[in-house]
Amino acid sequence: MITLGILGSTGSIGTQALQVAEALADEIKVTALTAGRNVELLAAQAIKFCPKVVAIAAKERYTELKRLLFGTGIRVLAGEEGLTYVAAGTESKTILAAIVGIAGLKPTLAAVRAGKRVALANKETLVTAGYIVQQEREISGAEILPVDSEHSAIWQCLRAGSKEEVQTLILTASGGPFRTRSKAELAQVTVQEALNHPNWSMGAKITVDSATLMNKGLEILEAGWLFGLPLEKIKVLVHPESIVHSLVEFADGAVIGQLGLPDMRLPIQLALTYPRRLGATWPRLSLAGRKLTFEEPDNERFPCLRLAQQAGKIGGTVPTALNAANEVAVAEFLSGRLPFAQIPSVVEQVIAAHQTQPEPTLDSVLAVDAWARDKARYVMAKE
Ligand code: NDP
Repeated sequence: MITLGILGSTGSIGTQALQVAEALADEIKVTALTAGRNVELLAAQAIKFCPKVVAIAAKERYTELKRLLFGTGIRVLAGEEGLTYVAAGTESKTILAAIVGIAGLKPTLAAVRAGKRVALANKETLVTAGYIVQQEREISGAEILPVDSEHSAIWQCLRAGSKEEVQTLILTASGGPFRTRSKAELAQVTVQEALNHPNWSMGAKITVDSATLMNKGLEILEAGWLFGLPLEKIKVLVHPESIVHSLVEFADGAVIGQLGLPDMRLPIQLALTYPRRLGATWPRLSLAGRKLTFEEPDNERFPCLRLAQQAGKIGGTVPTALNAANEVAVAEFLSGRLPFAQIPSVVEQVIAAHQTQPEPTLDSVLAVDAWARDKARYVMAKE
């Protein structure tokens, strides 16, 4: 039996993971759930799935959650300690890391330190602290399996050859809702338009990251840590139909791809049940009559991709600063206070002002994250 704890069960990935668990009730027992603030949904999920423990990050919501779960026998925890307990406790052998942003770092790291199978959706963990996660994984023997559809695709394609035989990892990108917009048009886009992704239904932050192409930049950095390959071997190809989820080119020129409908339940299920592939009832891909197209990304109109690549090339804590500046700028855009086209400019100014620290500790990652957030706010206030 797979005992599953979900960090971020009330989000887009978390709720889809619960659909997978419900469909595979004979294989997966949900043992722990967490949320940021949404006690109503967390309580409803807990009543349905009967985990042993739940945790809410916002401590001020603890009493409400406790009230909602009164009489169920489910243990209720709160705050950072609560999330860490869920990640590292004995209830769950598999942890799905599906909190959004750097808020997911500490609990995900706790799961890695505890030697769990970590099904990783929270890309910000590897982007900000890949070096630390790598070290902890080596010590604890934790398994980190990708949930991000592109990384899951690459992981599946890599079964076709050895790491030494890999020429290039090709991450596909939908191009987001503004793929065909001119620079002048990008200056006018609204929050509602940015949240209207053509192919995927996801949380607000990653949807905006997809529109700026920062998501693809973060994914390059994530892929570098996950697959242990230099960033020069990781390329991006825009594929508006989101059917080819990514590809691997091998030394002899063979290109292996993984195809499917855009549905996160497949990579979530595979990370949970690996090495088994179990049956599923979601719609299947039919290729007849479909056109699949590919084009190079446009770094001029979407500078975030280039910025992430630059940050990864310098390494150390620059990706941490990039991620923090992006999180602040995206939140500001979502609240209607920053134009869409200013997001890359805020990120660029923050990383230009940052002195990288190679081989950082967790404390230095958290300090750089706090510094970069302040710097981003300062940059935005000035503009
Ligand atoms: P959502 O915004 O939909 O959900 C985020 C989850 O994190 C919610 O459960 C939320 O709780 C919780 N959360 C938010 N803030 C905090 C906090 N400070 N402390 C603890 N928990 C918190 O995000 P997604 O599901 O879209 O994305 C989750 C992660 O997965 C991201 O890193 C994203 O990049 C990655 N990912 C997502 C994909 C997708 O299809 N959605 C695809 C590939 C990767 P609450 O509901 O209470 O706010």
